[in-house]
Amino acid sequence: MADEKHSSGAEFEACGARSDSQWRQELTREQYEVLRDRGTERPFTGKYNDCKDEGVYRCAGCGNELFSSRTKFDSGTGWPSFFQPLSSDAVREEPDASAGMTRTEVVCAKCDGHLGHVFDDGPGPAGRRYCMNSVSLDLQPDDE
Ligand code: FE
Repeated sequence: MADEKHSSGAEFEACGARSDSQWRQELTREQYEVLRDRGTERPFTGKYNDCKDEGVYRCAGCGNELFSSRTKFDSGTGWPSFFQPLSSDAVREEPDASAGMTRTEVVCAKCDGHLGHVFDDGPGPAGRRYCMNSVSLDLQPDDE
């Protein structure tokens, strides 16, 4: 899809991107459907929805550090929710008019993988709610 601008394998490595066939090889079917095909996991089914473990949530596609467990909160939506990303350049926000709604999509800034959406009804200082798919995330627990 967005692969035309990446011509060489070396560039794929440098920017964290892969060709579509590489993604299909590296990701599970569920990961591919969400990260590369903008799917959404069913609510209350993801492994991180209720997770209270401390650590850093990385992109399941490329390992980019996305969210700290310290910014995770129970939104009651059935998806892991955060009130801010780990840094302002960890994720990118894109307008999304699909599914008959006007939403803001959140993608990994490094590999463009679909993570979820962000809404303006969150509890943090900025009032934001990053509504993520568990399958797009990979928790790296803090050392004890
Ligand atoms: Fe990524």
